[in-house]
Amino acid sequence: MTIYLLPKKKYHLIFALYFVIFGVIVALLTSFITYHFSIADIDKEFQEKSKSSMEFSRAALDDYLAASEMIVSAVIQNELTEQYIRSDSSDDKRKLLRLFQGLTYANNDIMQLRYIDASGKENIRIHRHRKNQKLHIVSESDLQDKKQRYYYKETATLNADQFWHSNIDLNIENNKIEMPLNPTFRVAAPLFIDGRFEGIVIVNLLFEKIINLLTYSENFNIYLADQNGEIISQPDRSKSWSRYFKNNPDMSALFPEHVESILYQETFSAEKIYSYSLGELFKNNEGIKLIFVPEQAVVQELQQANIVLALLLAFTVILISIPLSGLVSIIPARLQSQLAKAYKVIRDDAAIIDKNVMIARTDKHGAIQNISTWFSKVTGYQRDEVIGKNHNILRHPDTTLETYSSLWQTILEGNTWEGQLKDLNKSGEEIWLNTVITPEFKDNNSISGFTAISQDITAQKEIEKMSVTDSLTGLYNRHKLELLLSAEISRFKRYQTPFSLLLFDVDYFKKINDCHGHLVGDETLIALAKLLQENARVTDWVVRWGGEEFLIVAAGTDIENTWFFAEKLRTTIAAHNFSVIGKATASCGIAQYKEGESAEELLSRVDSALYQAKQTGRNKVVKSTDPA
Ligand code: GH3
Ligand code: MG
Ligand code: MG
Repeated sequence: MTIYLLPKKKYHLIFALYFVIFGVIVALLTSFITYHFSIADIDKEFQEKSKSSMEFSRAALDDYLAASEMIVSAVIQNELTEQYIRSDSSDDKRKLLRLFQGLTYANNDIMQLRYIDASGKENIRIHRHRKNQKLHIVSESDLQDKKQRYYYKETATLNADQFWHSNIDLNIENNKIEMPLNPTFRVAAPLFIDGRFEGIVIVNLLFEKIINLLTYSENFNIYLADQNGEIISQPDRSKSWSRYFKNNPDMSALFPEHVESILYQETFSAEKIYSYSLGELFKNNEGIKLIFVPEQAVVQELQQANIVLALLLAFTVILISIPLSGLVSIIPARLQSQLAKAYKVIRDDAAIIDKNVMIARTDKHGAIQNISTWFSKVTGYQRDEVIGKNHNILRHPDTTLETYSSLWQTILEGNTWEGQLKDLNKSGEEIWLNTVITPEFKDNNSISGFTAISQDITAQKEIEKMSVTDSLTGLYNRHKLELLLSAEISRFKRYQTPFSLLLFDVDYFKKINDCHGHLVGDETLIALAKLLQENARVTDWVVRWGGEEFLIVAAGTDIENTWFFAEKLRTTIAAHNFSVIGKATASCGIAQYKEGESAEELLSRVDSALYQAKQTGRNKVVKSTDPA
């Protein structure tokens, strides 16, 4: 397994860097959002500004129009007018002319003030020279017939209290547009005396001032347009009046996307275009529109202010995140380096274990998943040779099927199995393993596989084979027993000297191991061996038969005496106070050697007797009843 680890000291920097990056992202996002919200705010702000500018224009226009109507009213309602019309005398006309002069004089927006009589002929006409502002009474011979002019015709149809307003127009003199351009606006009203129509009074007003008033703003470029989409005024004055100068752009050229909406809606707003209708003030069907477009420089100024704000915000967040990153990264950096250290320890330990402990992992069917290096040393099998193969490739023909079935039963029930196994290595040589097999569980508690940890005890077994004593108790071992039995059988054959066997097995010894542990179990076996040795006669051979089973060869003793002897040993054991565990009992089978019997047959009889003792209550002695 390869492990990639970062050099220890850099954790802090890396975590700090992550945090700063995080800070930068937050900063950028914050600025982005702030910026976009303020862009929306800018638009709203401009709309509000355009609205209030509009209100101001309306009020001013309303005043102007009212004042214009008042000029006309001042003529119509004056007694001098009625007097002149009734008398038609030149004296009364002179008086009326003075009134016209006075009115025109008092208001320098007035370009012309006229009375046109019921036949449509100009009767009185005051004219203001545009250049020198001087007033001029148009002589009788220059007065014209205006009967066919639209302003005359339209005003003549009105009632006494109604006013007529013209479109906003350029002044035309002698069929030519007056230069420099002279925007004009006319207000007229019909004149009735005793309910009889006597003509109209009409005033021509300079309109340039009003256009300037309506279109002046620090924040906006303002356009004035009529219902037909013609531009009356725009910031570049030289391009105004598209109605007369077809080369100048009209609404569809200036606002191609919004022209319909602007013309047909009372108020309209799109991004950075706000329009309002003034038609209801002019009452002239011209449908005058006022269109506000924010001044680019002002927009830029506001946007720049927003950018500065967003940058300031980003800068602040980043500035805060740098020292914070240092603080915040301390804890994970420490944890990370501790983890790395712990991981290194585990890795080193694992390597040591791998080299020195025999470990085999199998799935739940016994197929090998992994083995340690030491396992392959002991068995001779390389890792790739055994992976996927069943663990039973190590099985030795001598190891009984019962051993395996009890092993499998134990581990499949989820318990740990422990014991010595005779196995075969790759070369077919016998190896002895002291093995502990532990089941492993999945999350749902079902068994996923097994881990076998073994100790190679082949050498120990070899030594055991060669020695005559049992290493734990110091008693004779099975190997020696074989020799002893054959010697006794020879002696019987030669001298007919009887001898008997006593086979002791501790009752419920498993419980002792389970409750107190294997070491206490061992201690108990040592104490028991000592007890048997001390109570045996010098001619008796005490042998450790295996596990917690002890066999005594009672030389020169028949079955009756053996029984007494066995009873004595049994009661001594039962009365003994073992350290740690206290009391323990043992069962015993006895058998006397019969002529012609083999050692194995004798051993089998004594084993059956012991079995009987266990079956019939334990802590007792049972004689072999089988015939030899
Ligand atoms: P009973 O004989 O009364 O039927 O019950 P038991 O519990 O004694 O059963 P059994 O004879 O089958 O079990 C013997 C146990 O003794 C099993 C094994 O773990 C334990 N044992 C065998 N040899 C040793 C040893 O050298 N030391 C220790 N501590 N325990 C051993
Ligand atoms: Mg036993
Ligand atoms: Mg036992």
